[in-house]
Amino acid sequence: MSERLVVIGGDATGMSAASQARRLRTPEELEIVVFERGHFASYSACGIPYWVGGEVQDRDSLIARTPDEHRARDIDLRMRTEVLELDIEGRRVRSRDLESGAETWTGYDKLVIATGATPIRPPLAGIDAPGVHGVQTLDDGQALIDTLESSPGRRAVVVGAGYIGVEMAEAFIHRGYEVTLINRSAEPMATLDPDMGVLIQKAMEDMGIRVVCDAEVTAIHTDEAGRVRAVATADAEFAADVVVLGIGVRPATDLARAAGLPLGASGGLLTDLAMRVHGHENIWAGGDCVEVLDLVSGVQRHIPLGTHANKHGQIIGSGIGGEYATFPGVVGTAVSKVCDLEVARTGLREKDAAAVGLQFVTVIIESTSRSGYFPGAALMTVKMIAERRTGRLLGVQIVGREGAGKRIDIAAVALTARMTVEQMTALDLGYAPPFSPVWDPVLVAARKAVSAVRRLG
Ligand SMILES: Cc1cc2nc3c(=O)[nH]c(=O)nc-3n(C[C@H](O)[C@H](O)[C@H](O)COP(=O)(O)OP(=O)(O)OC[C@H]3O[C@@H](n4cnc5c(N)ncnc54)[C@H](O)[C@@H]3O)c2cc1C
Repeated sequence: MSERLVVIGGDATGMSAASQARRLRTPEELEIVVFERGHFASYSACGIPYWVGGEVQDRDSLIARTPDEHRARDIDLRMRTEVLELDIEGRRVRSRDLESGAETWTGYDKLVIATGATPIRPPLAGIDAPGVHGVQTLDDGQALIDTLESSPGRRAVVVGAGYIGVEMAEAFIHRGYEVTLINRSAEPMATLDPDMGVLIQKAMEDMGIRVVCDAEVTAIHTDEAGRVRAVATADAEFAADVVVLGIGVRPATDLARAAGLPLGASGGLLTDLAMRVHGHENIWAGGDCVEVLDLVSGVQRHIPLGTHANKHGQIIGSGIGGEYATFPGVVGTAVSKVCDLEVARTGLREKDAAAVGLQFVTVIIESTSRSGYFPGAALMTVKMIAERRTGRLLGVQIVGREGAGKRIDIAAVALTARMTVEQMTALDLGYAPPFSPVWDPVLVAARKAVSAVRRLG
């Protein structure tokens, strides 16, 4: 007899799960119904800053597969349909067609919760004024582009200097805007240690971005027509024709919370290795609405990234399709850029290591992306953190130009393999002058970390 799979959320996790389940189960074996409240499914939110900045011209190129393409593969994708309630006992969900307002209950045998994350919007005066935008969804990106194309002003204020904030600062630079970036912490990119954040701030200021740190937005001021005109902090006011908010997200788990499903400290759903919700054999969850295990610290954390969301979807779909697949956890790897500055991190920052009681050594080195004599060689700074007694690698941060960012993957692999910095120095990495110095910058940092461990360990 056919079973029914219901998926809530039709983006990275939800559509990956549905597609993988469909690969493994025929429509006769498994009916698949996906509810998506937005106008778009299967799109890359990660591409939004590059679309806004004009590097990606075509919105539709951010869409991996259209609703009709999914339907042609026997996935019943119901767009503009929001799930309002989960009835866990009755194994059914209540949804509303956002166009007609009609409400329906749909039963399920298996359920996937892939509702993503909700952007944080502090309750400030003016926060909902025309000209103030988020960039969480393709709908948000379209609304922002519509504003930019209809307004002659050229002053942008970006609130929040996480990776989305700095990528949006770059997008506005590409569009020829005067850009102010307002940030609550003392340096941009608080996912790195402050000594690396300072380098990012300096580089952004050199690009002409006004970076205002240690500043909390207190209000958004509007003109007589009610449109945004300025962003206020405790000490200053910054004129703005457009404002983008990038101040973080929280797991979108209101439905799950109301249904009594288990949540962690961050509000993210708690799952086992197969992405099954704890205590519920027939419910899976993944992507931005769950917590993940940080393999370096052993702590559960909310790390909302597309790289995890797609893997979660694949694993969930495999499990539903009858295969064995697990997601062991993450080491906290992320890479980003602002104009030609590449920023990457993996593992623990100093404060993360201290918070879990680890004793550690820290080294910082400067090297170049290519052999020093080779044209185009650019400076990069690598910070490495290792456990003091054992020399186990704990974290790496890199700031530099072309070729710097993706070097973080070396460290991500070393962290996953629980290598010591000494073992890292023996890694057989590729070398030729156009690609790296004979000692890759990551290995230079590892060598210095070995010395520090020997000296202090
Ligand atoms: C601007 C931007 C840039 C990014 N860049 C990167 C990057 O470079 N690298 C990286 O790894 N990650 C990046 N990310 C993060 C990445 O996009 C997310 O981690 C990923 O999209 C999460 O996938 P998801 O399926 O869990 O959630 P989402 O993509 O948020 O999808 C959830 C879907 O569920 C729908 N939904 C929610 N509730 C309901 C409901 N009740 N009923 C029906 N539908 C519902 C929503 O409409 C949404 O479409 C970026 C994100 C943004 C916003």
